[in-house]
Amino acid sequence: MKHPNVSRRNFVNTAITGSLILGAPSIVSARSLGGGALGQSLVPIKHGSMAVTEFKNSKIHSYQSPNLTGCVTTHIIETPERLIIVDGQRSVIYGQEIRDYADALGKPVDRMIISHLHPDHWFGAYQFRDVPIHSLKETQGEIEQLGEFFIEISIPTLGDHVPPEKVVPDTLIADGSSETIDGVTLEFKHVTDAESDNMLTIYLPEEKVLIAQDLLYNNCHLFCGHGNFQGWQKSLKDLRNDTSFDLVLPGHGANVGSRQSIDDALIYLEFVEGTYAKVSTGDELKSAIIERYPSYLAASLVDIQNLFLFPKK
Ligand SMILES: [Zn+2]
Repeated sequence: MKHPNVSRRNFVNTAITGSLILGAPSIVSARSLGGGALGQSLVPIKHGSMAVTEFKNSKIHSYQSPNLTGCVTTHIIETPERLIIVDGQRSVIYGQEIRDYADALGKPVDRMIISHLHPDHWFGAYQFRDVPIHSLKETQGEIEQLGEFFIEISIPTLGDHVPPEKVVPDTLIADGSSETIDGVTLEFKHVTDAESDNMLTIYLPEEKVLIAQDLLYNNCHLFCGHGNFQGWQKSLKDLRNDTSFDLVLPGHGANVGSRQSIDDALIYLEFVEGTYAKVSTGDELKSAIIERYPSYLAASLVDIQNLFLFPKK
């Protein structure tokens, strides 16, 4: 069947009328690495999981939340002198868990960077509101505009996980800019029309790491609510052709860093795009996706996605 164009306006309107549905909590362990890092270890932590990857001059501590909030990741880049936090979780409880972990590392938190507007990447930034919060200009504007209503619609299902107020980034990151902090270089790129309309990726050339966030999911259901199937696939193909990184870190799922997740995501998107064109209801789409991907985590994202792909008239 023919579906209406999924526009940002639909995204907003549907979110206002929709409700969020949650899956059961679970913890996923990271697997072994295949890249050029020195090594990776798992650190015990109460709610989520934490995988620490070591490099010559830095470490990346990768947190993954329980399935309750969609296995969403936060990465702590530890330079010799300070900590840079990438993304802030969908939960202030998990945000606090990361804050406690970061404080225990004994280095100051220099900043938080938010990759895109979706609330699973900034609700928990509330626990970091005392440090500068960086993002693209577009993301700052989107959170400024939609922040309150994301909070409002999340309270019925997430309760104590939801922050009391929105966290709007206060420092802007320009596309193509880079910064070297204690010898660790970060290169910023603005990606458009993919998992969300505006997304930030961060490349660390010395470490040969790409922090892709929601351009990439690993063994989790991809959120296709913006309907940017073609644009997202194009970005993933660009990523597949990019040999500058050994490890690529996803925004959802275990932080094993494998490039295989790029191909997995391309196949998933092609499947959902094709199925979406054939079905009439969200339930049909969900059944087809679950049947094709029975072991994928973060199934609650399919329910949220369907609110946008099948907006109420
Ligand atoms: Zn996300």
